[in-house]
Amino acid sequence: MTATIIDGKAIAKRIKDEIAEEIKVRNQFGMPAPGLATVLVGDDPASQIYLRNKIRTCEQLGIRSFSYTLPADAEQAELEQLIRTLNENPEIHGILVQLPLPPQIDEYQILSLIAPQKDVDGFHPINAGMLSRKESDPWFIPCTPSGILILVQSIVSDIAGKEVVVIGRSSIVGMPTAQLLCRNNATVTICHRQTQELPKICRRADILVVAVGNSRMVKSSWVKPGAVVIDVGINRIPDPADPSKTILTGDTDFDEIVNVASAITPVPGGVGPMTIAILMRNTLAAARREKPL
Ligand code: NAD
Repeated sequence: MTATIIDGKAIAKRIKDEIAEEIKVRNQFGMPAPGLATVLVGDDPASQIYLRNKIRTCEQLGIRSFSYTLPADAEQAELEQLIRTLNENPEIHGILVQLPLPPQIDEYQILSLIAPQKDVDGFHPINAGMLSRKESDPWFIPCTPSGILILVQSIVSDIAGKEVVVIGRSSIVGMPTAQLLCRNNATVTICHRQTQELPKICRRADILVVAVGNSRMVKSSWVKPGAVVIDVGINRIPDPADPSKTILTGDTDFDEIVNVASAITPVPGGVGPMTIAILMRNTLAAARREKPL
């Protein structure tokens, strides 16, 4: 069996094209452009790259971006004041605080200060809480999990009753992904560092989502034949062909698993592009003052 390669880049492009089209129509009707504020504290190179990509995508789609950078030694009060100002600014519909924040900053406190209606990352405790309750719809669902759901649905038309295993339980990827898939009636098992017999549990999965940050950890022997594998990991490792360079790898052994799974996301070009596309979709939804679909 050779797995279908799930083309996250192409699916993300379709989403972004729709967003650009809607923004064009909004412009024609004199409606304001959606506005996204990005907040960076410090000068972490990876964070700078992620933010640059997000800001570039805003420009491509007609979303106004407002970028704010504070020094690495910024104090909690300074960042809190900035968030309060952004909450009040009517030109700003979405607020994104690039994580991780420096150690002197209380991340949970900062994320809790963002107005839930502008929380396009979906990390505010109100939005996180509403995601965990089946009877409530959050204003925003975190971008990577939303993108993962779309990628899964591009292959599996109905995930109800499917056996899903999610490896990783972070607040930004693993846990909300598990909750979102559970809301869609999958039977979900969440695994983490303390999980016993991880390969055995993984072999149960019809859909295996891996978000650990450990290059090529999941081997083909962990994958049930015909399973759908979503690889969220982004790892930078030395290039075996030229150790002076680096390459990006996922959390799964793609080259082996492609012969066992029915479908798999590549790294790069799988989940990553979806995360940015959903951020844009959430920002547009914030401008509409509607809950996203
Ligand atoms: P994290 O470090 O916050 O969480 C990792 C989780 O994996 C933890 O719950 C931990 O218990 C679990 N874990 C780690 N090693 C394990 C092991 N050996 N066995 C079982 N469980 C293990 O990381 P995160 O923020 O959730 O990100 C995970 C990966 O996804 C990273 O590579 C990150 O770069 C990537 N990521 C990608 C996107 C994207 O858009 N593609 C977005 C966010 C994160």
